[in-house]
Amino acid sequence: MTKDNLTAVLHGIEDMRLEQRPIPDISPDEVLVAMDSVGICGSDVHYLTKGRIGHFVVTKPMVIGHESAGVVAKVGSKVKNLVVGDRVAIEPGVPCYKCDHCKQGSYNLCPDMAFCATPPYDGNLTRYYKHAADFCFKLPDHVTMEEGALLEPLSVGVHACNRAGVSLGSKVLILGAGPIGLVTLLVAQSMGATKILITDLVQQRLDIAKELGATHTLLMKPGDTAENVADRVRQVMGDEPDKSIDCCGAESTTRLAIFATRSGGVVVIVGMGPSEMKLPLFNALAREVDIRGVFRYCNDYSAALALVASGRVNVKRLVTHHFNITETAKAFETARLGTGGAIKVMIHVQPRNINN
Ligand code: NAD
Ligand code: ZN
Repeated sequence: MTKDNLTAVLHGIEDMRLEQRPIPDISPDEVLVAMDSVGICGSDVHYLTKGRIGHFVVTKPMVIGHESAGVVAKVGSKVKNLVVGDRVAIEPGVPCYKCDHCKQGSYNLCPDMAFCATPPYDGNLTRYYKHAADFCFKLPDHVTMEEGALLEPLSVGVHACNRAGVSLGSKVLILGAGPIGLVTLLVAQSMGATKILITDLVQQRLDIAKELGATHTLLMKPGDTAENVADRVRQVMGDEPDKSIDCCGAESTTRLAIFATRSGGVVVIVGMGPSEMKLPLFNALAREVDIRGVFRYCNDYSAALALVASGRVNVKRLVTHHFNITETAKAFETARLGTGGAIKVMIHVQPRNINN
């Protein structure tokens, strides 16, 4: 093991630095992971450009990155599920294990969750990172490190589709064809949805959605009103969606999700938009349309891994750009501007494919 622990540290708005950090010591329940691949998430970009998301504020230097996979370099004395050399995907949030939410299994709602790159907790765009062993998932040999990193957004898609109750024959409306909308599309398909209409403002993203199996796409225009577009959704789909999943979070998309959903259906909100919005709640209540939130994922990593390992879902198409950790600034610039049709930008801490 070298002493090099090059790490991407966010010091404040527009101030990201690559610097050396000490290699962490591990406790008995932890493993040290030699990081391999780390995807850039919209939230990483948001912390870089705004320094905060809602009430999570970067007040001290924070290591960025949370969509990740690597190779176990050291195991704590009590670790039984992993050995040195195992290739693992890292579920980035470690809860307290003690509160009611944790005990009831809804650990994503734990108020004391330590989540990578959510202030004040460090992320893992670094060469060596320590993590709770039971939140590391051993990858089968044929699953790549990049796919391991993509289990993070894919788990959001699994959780969203579970919350929506997507099942055989579901007709699903997905709003937004960014990485989260696209993984939600892949999961909805694998859960048996027979019609999936996805919307976006960008035709190129809709083209990718089509390639990935969306049965219908609808290009939105900035001035569209939710009421008018709800009719178009039904016309294009030839049906009323019974599940609508907002992967955008704009007021207009959440409004459309409510108007377009069939009476008795479900609206799931994944996109994190403004903290307050004007929504047609009377319309929802009078038609018994349930509105549900999604916060990350909970016990979904295994299912996400099974989907990828079995070949049921192919997430590789989402990765459009690759950079070395030394090019982190360029990688963030690409993700932020969507340069070259960027969807998912992957940062390689070790040479690409060396651990596959
Ligand atoms: P993204 O910005 O890449 O994708 C959003 C997409 O929506 C873009 O393609 C954009 O063109 C499109 N869009 C914008 N306005 C639109 C409109 N009016 N109609 C249709 N499409 C429109 O982001 P992403 O990484 O895919 O994430 C999506 C959202 O999910 C973000 O708000 C993110 O913060 C949120 N998120 C939430 C959770 C959670 O736990 N709830 C987890 C991960 C991400
Ligand atoms: Zn807890």
